[in-house]
Amino acid sequence: MSVKIILEGNKILKKKSLPVKIFDKKLRNLAQDMIEYGKSVDNCVGIAAVQVGVLLRMSVIYVEDEWEVMINPKILFEDTKLSSEWEGCMSLEDGNLFGRVKRPNKLIVEYVNENNKRRTYQFEGFYSHLILHEIDHMNGIMFLDLMKKPYKLVSNDDLEKIYKEKDSIK
Ligand SMILES: [Zn+2]
Repeated sequence: MSVKIILEGNKILKKKSLPVKIFDKKLRNLAQDMIEYGKSVDNCVGIAAVQVGVLLRMSVIYVEDEWEVMINPKILFEDTKLSSEWEGCMSLEDGNLFGRVKRPNKLIVEYVNENNKRRTYQFEGFYSHLILHEIDHMNGIMFLDLMKKPYKLVSNDDLEKIYKEKDSIK
C-alpha cells in the first residue's frame, strides 16, 4: 500500500494529533509505507502521520543515514540559543519549496521507536529542526506558521545555488 501526502490548505494539517496507545501491526505497516514513500522522494527527511491523514503522534524521520519511527515524542530540553535552517515540507509543493526557520539549536527529546523502546536523544542544528518540525505537525503547526509574512520561499535550485555560494565563501 502506498501513502498519499496531504497538501497545505487541507484543514487536517491544522489539527492536533493524539498519542499512540499501542504501536500495533496496522500502525507498523503504515510507518513502513511512510518510510518507503520517504525513500522514494529526493530531499525527504521526515513525514508525520497527519500528513497521510492519520491524527496520531507518530513520524518517520531520517537521522544519521537511517529511517526510524518516532512515536509520542516529548521534549525534555530546548536550547535558548536559536539557529536558522532551510526547511521544506512534503505537504508544500512536494517538498520543493524552502523557507528559513528559526528554532532552538539543541534539544533533548524522548520517544518510543519502532521496537517499542523508549529512547532519549540529543539533537543539534538541522536535526533539532527536523524533530521540532515533526512535533509541530503533531500539534497542527506548519513551518510556514513560524515565518513572517510575506513568506520568502526558495526553490530547490535556488537552495543549491545558495549552498554553493556559501561553500565558495568558506
Ligand atoms: Zn513537514
